[in-house]
Amino acid sequence: MPPDERYSRQIRFGPIGETGQQRLSESRILLVGLGALGTVAADQLVRAGVGFVRLVDRDFVELSNLQRQSLFDEGDIADNLPKAIAAETRLRRINSSVQIEARVDDVNPSNIEEYLDGVDLVLDALDNFETRFVINDACAKHIKPWIYTAALGSYGLVMPVLPGRTPCLRCLLGSMPAPGTSPTCETAGVVAPITHIIASIQVAEALKLITGSLDPHDVRLTAYDVWSHRFQRIDVGKDAMASCPVCAKGEFEYLDGSPLRTITLCGRNAVQLIPGVRGDINFEELSKSIAAFGSVQFNDFLLKCSAPPYELTLFRDGRAIVKGTDEAGTARSIYSKMVGL
Ligand SMILES: [Zn+2]
Repeated sequence: MPPDERYSRQIRFGPIGETGQQRLSESRILLVGLGALGTVAADQLVRAGVGFVRLVDRDFVELSNLQRQSLFDEGDIADNLPKAIAAETRLRRINSSVQIEARVDDVNPSNIEEYLDGVDLVLDALDNFETRFVINDACAKHIKPWIYTAALGSYGLVMPVLPGRTPCLRCLLGSMPAPGTSPTCETAGVVAPITHIIASIQVAEALKLITGSLDPHDVRLTAYDVWSHRFQRIDVGKDAMASCPVCAKGEFEYLDGSPLRTITLCGRNAVQLIPGVRGDINFEELSKSIAAFGSVQFNDFLLKCSAPPYELTLFRDGRAIVKGTDEAGTARSIYSKMVGL
């Protein structure tokens, strides 16, 4: 088959070439999180012609996302679409030759290994440390490369992790920061230029990795601040690996921990609740029983009940997001009243 006109400029770029393009077309990627970082990374990967991308995100599109989450528009909000579904629709229009699998789900210890199955690279585009540490453990266990990203304010970080060969997230951070000790998008805000830059650096690292151009000896933590133009490449060092519970001892305490039950969501004044057992909720029936609490709307993917000052968004599998509080106890109570767990 002649080289696709679609990829001609990328193929003409020496370090990729025809061989690199062929490798891209055979690559299989898991992308976790479709916020500011994930939408940009997904857009570039699909345009670049990767073979397969599995998108997982637990959220739905909201007005405050549109400032930076470039796959979404006002129509997605009007339709109450989950981000994974809205992104999938948009990405299929961009490149119909890429196989796209969209999953509306929370990634946690109970399902990460299932999502890793059949992929050869994982991109982290998350907004919380809990899930990143789970990914770090799972990728170390299954020896799959992954690329860490984070962005806040005007500042962001990128670090590829090649298990056994380069430092991991625990080498870098030790243990998970305690709740309330790190700034969030709610307290610090975030500007679109930094999330686009950080996602772009992540995709560049992914392209290098897939096409065989990423030298493990050259892997660094990249930090950039778009407001001050401070740019750093930091060597986390092999010494950190020698004392890391994951790299040195093969201990996966985040993967082996109990499934997450409640998570306070970054920048949302909201709590996510994840039942231990997956349900298959009949929204039509439930909408009648909870109508007494407030106005109810539902589609094939989610049900919303607005009961000021709270709003419950419930997914078919029983997962829910309660807006209007960041208290896990309050959210649990609202969930149990409305959904009955
Ligand atoms: Zn490590």
